[in-house]
Amino acid sequence: MTRTALNTHEAMDTQLSKHFTLAELTRSATATRHNIDNTPPAEVVKHLRLLAQEVLEPLRCRFGVLRITSGYRCEELNRRVGGVKNSQHLTGDAADLHLSTREEGEKMRHWALEKHLPVRQILVEYNRNTGARWLHIGRETDAKPQSKPQGLDMAPDRCYLCNAKQTIKPTPATGLNFRNYARTFY
Ligand SMILES: [Zn+2]
Repeated sequence: MTRTALNTHEAMDTQLSKHFTLAELTRSATATRHNIDNTPPAEVVKHLRLLAQEVLEPLRCRFGVLRITSGYRCEELNRRVGGVKNSQHLTGDAADLHLSTREEGEKMRHWALEKHLPVRQILVEYNRNTGARWLHIGRETDAKPQSKPQGLDMAPDRCYLCNAKQTIKPTPATGLNFRNYARTFY
C-alpha cells in the first residue's frame, strides 16, 4: 500500500485539529470499492485543516462526536458519488456529517449560523433511496466563490425547533465575512 501521502508528505494519521485526522476527512467507501486514489494534494490538506479547525471543532465541542461521511473528493470520486461539478468537496472545503434525524441537522445548522461559523453552505440533506441523512457544510473561503451560498437564511423567521422568533438577520449572499470568530468558542 503506497497510497498514503504521495503528494503531501502528510501521513493519513496526521491530526488536522484536536479531534479530526486527515484520514477521517479523506476516506471513502466508494473510493476503496473502485480503487480510486483519494490522496489530497498539499493545498487541499491546508483547506481541510481550516475546515477542521474553524468549522468542525466548534460543532464537535457543542454537539459531541461527529461522524464524517464525506470530506475531500478527488474529481473521479466526486463523479462517482454524483457530486456537483463545482462541489466544495473537490477543494477540501466541505464535509458531510452523519445525521440520525432532520432535527439534529437543523439544530446544528441553526447553532452554526447563530455563532457565525464561517460557512458558505450548510444544508440538511436526505437521500430518499438510501434513507441517509447528512449535514453538508462548506467553509467560507477567501477564494473566489465557485459555489453559491446556500442554507444561510434563517427563514422562516421562527426557529424550526423551538418556534422562537429568529434574532439573526438572513445573511446576504455576498460580502460574507465571518473571519476571526471560531477560536473564541473553546
Ligand atoms: Zn457535501
